Amino acid sequence: MMHMADGPDATLDPADWTQLRALGHQILDDMFDHLEGIRARPVWQQMPDAARDSLRTPLPRAPGSLADAYRSLQDNVIPYTVGNPHPGFMGWVHGAGTPVGIVAEMIAGALNANVGGRNQAPVEVERQVSQWMAALFGFPATARGVFVTGTSIANFMGVVVARTQALGRDVRAHGLAAHAGLRAYASAEAHGCIAKAMDMAGFGSAALRTVRVDAAGRMDMQDLAAQVDADRRNGLRPFLVVASAGTVNTGAIDPLATLADFTRAQGMWLHVDGAYGALGMLAPDVAPLLDGIARADSLAFDFHKWGQVPYDAGYFLARDGAHMLDAFAAPAAYLQRASTGLAAGTAWPCDVGPDLSRGFRALKTWLTFQVYGADAIGRSISATCALARYLAERVAAEPSLELVAPVTLNIVCFRYVCADPERVNREIVLALYDEGRVAPSATTLYGRYAIRAAIVNHRTCRADIDALVEAVLRAGRRLS
Ligand SMILES: *Cc1c(COP(=O)(O)O)cnc(C)c1O
Repeated sequence: MMHMADGPDATLDPADWTQLRALGHQILDDMFDHLEGIRARPVWQQMPDAARDSLRTPLPRAPGSLADAYRSLQDNVIPYTVGNPHPGFMGWVHGAGTPVGIVAEMIAGALNANVGGRNQAPVEVERQVSQWMAALFGFPATARGVFVTGTSIANFMGVVVARTQALGRDVRAHGLAAHAGLRAYASAEAHGCIAKAMDMAGFGSAALRTVRVDAAGRMDMQDLAAQVDADRRNGLRPFLVVASAGTVNTGAIDPLATLADFTRAQGMWLHVDGAYGALGMLAPDVAPLLDGIARADSLAFDFHKWGQVPYDAGYFLARDGAHMLDAFAAPAAYLQRASTGLAAGTAWPCDVGPDLSRGFRALKTWLTFQVYGADAIGRSISATCALARYLAERVAAEPSLELVAPVTLNIVCFRYVCADPERVNREIVLALYDEGRVAPSATTLYGRYAIRAAIVNHRTCRADIDALVEAVLRAGRRLS
């Protein structure tokens, strides 16, 4: 590039934007085409060795053309993703994304806002989302929320905030050395990230007690009370219950209102893992199942699951934002606040969570609500639950299929009945992946291997459920 007296010597911007502009428009069109035509392609296909090999290059030192790199992406990456935007994807609890999400990510990319703090509109957009969520969950005016990568980190924050609340801010300087006896409680169906959070927070996963579940997968209150009582009698200090609002295996919801009574009476913190289930508050037929969620001390959930916001968009909400400041705010000379100007405004997002530099996740969430409206998200949530009930009916009507767990929300665990169900159902799932029409996942429940259909996608319809049932029956007959 020619040296220009009045310009930067080493900018990464093009000298002439015309070509980039044309290709950029083409790529945006291609991405809309990608979504519009998604049903015609397989849910998932194995990435060929040649595609994998094409990525194995040394660090490129010299410039390459965007057109060439994009062609390589089209050939070697774009066809080989996990497939969650596809209506036949019923694997893990993954959101599908939306066309508006594509646009939002593009705008966020152009602004490249670092939403750690400072006096800027993106911080205000994030504050607005926080107010919406506080209102949605019936939290008081003191509530505050913050975007993080996902519920795994939001659950970790729940443990850290509850710890700071139980032990005082001093624990941030001196750690847990003087506090060996703290215990937390979650059900046997709680997500694995809760134990990981206890580990990462320095308690160790063994400080998390596993509470029994009832036949519907909900936390057994008697077992919880007995374990808390026994721990107290042994000189330990119960400080936290993590309730699940939509377990990852079966969609079970712990008795939230009863748990709120219990934790209040016990002086314990109630954190709710509502990773995907919490946004059921947007659906009039699901919200009553979440009764009691408004009384949680803190809540973790994802906009990227049932909220259909593109990855990643996890969220932590506390009923009193002061507890988040207690746990995460830290003074630093280079983060000084001013009363006016660019460094004005407080508290900043970096004061209420673990991240300093952080992207504008609030934009894609804000735009999703602006354009579709919360009621449409709620209707798509209701629709996935209706499809799950339809699938459960179809399973019940087929002599060679059986349900393995009751259906609470949008997850159906079932299996093909035969002499060797473990092997056959395992092979059915693999056969379905090869066919590429529908993609469930698998789990083990009460020692029984089950095909697990988690219906999260707003594009999924009855034809996809029928395709799943037919494909399982066909593969089951062939393999058994
Ligand atoms: C998905 C999920 C998590 C983990 O959330 P991430 O966003 O993947 O980090 C935790 N708990 C439950 C119940 C989940 O469904």
